[in-house]
Amino acid sequence: MKTYGPVPSWRLGNSLGVDLVEAPAGHTKTCSFDCIYCQLGHKVFRIQSPKKIDIKEENFKELKKKIKQTKPDYITFSGEGEPTSNLNLGYAAKRIKEITDVPIAVLTNSSFVHLPQVRKGLNACDLVIAKIDAPNQDLFEKINRPYHGAPLTSIVQDLKKINTKLAIQTLLFSYDGLTNADDAAINGLMDIYEELNKSKPITIYLGTAHRPTDAESLEAISETQLEAIAKDISSQLGIEVRYYQKKEPKIISRKITDEVLREEILGLLKRRPCTLNDISSRFSNMNVSGVLQSLINSDLLEIRTNSKRRFYLSKEG
Ligand code: SF4
Repeated sequence: MKTYGPVPSWRLGNSLGVDLVEAPAGHTKTCSFDCIYCQLGHKVFRIQSPKKIDIKEENFKELKKKIKQTKPDYITFSGEGEPTSNLNLGYAAKRIKEITDVPIAVLTNSSFVHLPQVRKGLNACDLVIAKIDAPNQDLFEKINRPYHGAPLTSIVQDLKKINTKLAIQTLLFSYDGLTNADDAAINGLMDIYEELNKSKPITIYLGTAHRPTDAESLEAISETQLEAIAKDISSQLGIEVRYYQKKEPKIISRKITDEVLREEILGLLKRRPCTLNDISSRFSNMNVSGVLQSLINSDLLEIRTNSKRRFYLSKEG
């Protein structure tokens, strides 16, 4: 288990990341999908089924220290691996609840939600943010490229069995003639949202490809389009819809050495591309520019531009 961040999240505010499934050397992620838009690259360590991955007691001590230093709004299971592929998700949530009142969220691709043990782990969290990007199996396979886990229709049925707060996250984009943001796709997605919301009120998060990925012709949806789609869904279905909007990140100040700063920046950028502003806000009053430059000089980072913004990315993997 590895703690990183906190990252500035448009959904969760100041979100302290907890990675339960790190990627093995030579890979950039451990997942049952390989989504076209994945910001972690495509060197995927493919998992076929969840298993228990041990968590050391000292990891909870480190987390407790980081919570004290950074005062996050949420603790979020996410990172280099699909959190539900570690069957110790529920145990980790339970232990974290013993050390803090900060709410726990989990970002999941929903692929293993058909397994009761996985649902038990998800239900131990305060908020499950489940990915649904496609209205049908054909688009699901083209966008998320699942190679293991349940088909889309059974994912929808099994998400109804989640008994903690549920949000559905959809990332809208266009790529080489493929899109999930046209009228037909949005109408299909609305059928799924409606079906889930009938079972239990959900929140919908609409995002877009605002961070760089390896898919160079991937096109993000503008904030204006996102807003129009969000308002349409909300007025037709009466469901709370939130959509991606660029926000100034909260400033976090703490004292750490340049060596720790270097490790923390690398840990953060391995899991999430960030702008200079994002990084500086996490490590206010520290030598962020100097450390970034030394990481670039050591060939550990690269810079890419997306949506007219410069992002720093890890080259490790
Ligand atoms: S589910 Fe998440 S980590 Fe896995 S491929 Fe898709 S975006 Fe990447």
